[in-house]
Amino acid sequence: MSRRVFRYFPFAIAQDATAGPEYEARCVVGDESECGAESGTHSGPGPVEERQRKHTQETGHRRYRRNFGDYAVMRPPAELVEPAGANGGAA
Ligand SMILES: [Zn+2]
Repeated sequence: MSRRVFRYFPFAIAQDATAGPEYEARCVVGDESECGAESGTHSGPGPVEERQRKHTQETGHRRYRRNFGDYAVMRPPAELVEPAGANGGAA
């Protein structure tokens, strides 16, 4: 195994507090075409689960695809905060 050596900066990864997380679910019941009923996007899991329960009650559908998304920001270590070295491309 070969080892590529590069400078490693211990970035901290944190959830971006300025953009809230997103929860959603889609009903995937169906063989050739799925039901596709969507919960819509919500900032918490509660409303999504409520929509699922309602949909299941109305249709008997019991399988959902759930999506969760959020934004992450890389926080450089203190010694790196000076604006430098942002050039150079990713191949
Ligand atoms: Zn459905």
